[in-house]
Amino acid sequence: MDIKTKIIATIGPACDNADMLQTMVDAGVNAFRLNMSHRNESSKRNLYSLVQSLKMANGQHPCILTDLAGPKIRIKEVNKAFTLEPGQMVTITNERGADKEHIRVTEGIGFTEVSEGAKILINDGRIQLEVIETESQHSLRCRTEIGGPVEARKGVNFPGIILDVPTLTEQDKTDLKLALKEGADWIALSFVRSSKNLDEVLKIMDNAGKRLPVMAKIEKWEALNDVDAITEAFDGVMVARGDLGVEIPAEQVPLAQKHIIEVAGASGKPVVIATQLLESMVDSRTPTRAEVSDIANAIFDGVDALMVTGETAVGKYPVDVIHTLKRVITETENATLSGRSSIPEEVSKTADAISHAVCEIALDLEINVIMTMTHGGSTARMIARYRPRATVLALTPFNQIARQLQIVWGILPIKVTEYDNVEMTPDVCRSVLDNRKIIEQGERYVITGGVPLGMPGTTNYLSIQRY
Ligand code: PGA
Ligand code: MN
Repeated sequence: MDIKTKIIATIGPACDNADMLQTMVDAGVNAFRLNMSHRNESSKRNLYSLVQSLKMANGQHPCILTDLAGPKIRIKEVNKAFTLEPGQMVTITNERGADKEHIRVTEGIGFTEVSEGAKILINDGRIQLEVIETESQHSLRCRTEIGGPVEARKGVNFPGIILDVPTLTEQDKTDLKLALKEGADWIALSFVRSSKNLDEVLKIMDNAGKRLPVMAKIEKWEALNDVDAITEAFDGVMVARGDLGVEIPAEQVPLAQKHIIEVAGASGKPVVIATQLLESMVDSRTPTRAEVSDIANAIFDGVDALMVTGETAVGKYPVDVIHTLKRVITETENATLSGRSSIPEEVSKTADAISHAVCEIALDLEINVIMTMTHGGSTARMIARYRPRATVLALTPFNQIARQLQIVWGILPIKVTEYDNVEMTPDVCRSVLDNRKIIEQGERYVITGGVPLGMPGTTNYLSIQRY
């Protein structure tokens, strides 16, 4: 049986060649993340064609998830390297040059509101400052709590400070236009603060005449206060634990993760858990027990996809990382994929009820194959939401929809030829089953979809067939 939890791998210098990437696909990667924080334009452009040259078992190239860097704040130039000592006073600023007393950060941002006891964290929280005084909208006087070396390009986080930052930087706009042109399948937006942040992305997509699904990366403390609305507005969410674990105390991340998975699950939006899943494998061939446990728990909680970052981008063992993920997923799913799906609190829509019924019928009649006829992907997502044990084939006439479904739990996307008549549905399904040989003669299977065809959100059709 195929595993249900999906794998997303970040491309970086450690794996950015066709041989290595194809080996990773063969090992189980469903989607590649293209990280727009690094590389120049032509190198970014090459990444798209590189992934498009790869082949998955279903004949398609893997899903491409373009990750827009967003307004990440970093230390600009440092004139002379220096180390901050505990107790030392220093000013974080973007309105003047750097010296021993002033650390210059990304321009254009303002510090709008500084709460009592607000902190500033540098280099993933390795350096910790406490804000003592707001000198201006652009300069904060701080006292060093935990010291360390001050280096250019390191990230700076501002928990407890409301920042005046754009949703998209000029670089993000350029990267988004390139993504639309070069064939990205999903967009991820970094440092989302509110559901309204989606509007600017949609505006650019509208102008380009192309609408891709957009995933909100939850990694700002403000976003945690708005998880419901963000999940409702966006097409998916990512728990980006790297920055999130700096924006809020690390010990609060597990609960935030559980909460986000729960909210996303209830609304049928895919949820991705990212960062430090297998951090030790950057240097080691084997994971720690704690890492394996963390992955298993994310699967227990109902995550759609697991995303590795540095492990494959800059680590020594990108392929071993994928093998490890696959082994942990297989073992965990074997133990957990037995239960009957729970009925959601509110089954008010026909689509909810039909999707749920499909999963229950599959259990009652010991049906192993559920076939969803999906134009925009929503029928498939509705089914996946109930975490059925049966194999869920998503038949769609559109290549891009098939790729977009690669990151959704339990879905095996298959591109079929365009059909425009509901009566053709059983035939389309039968020919897919003929090709895939996943079902015995006389075995039953369920077909579900929406009529009229091509109307997104209508899941109202259910039929039990015998092969
Ligand atoms: P990043 O996102 O690698 O773009 O920072 C992931 C994270 O913050 O966890
Ligand atoms: Mn991040």
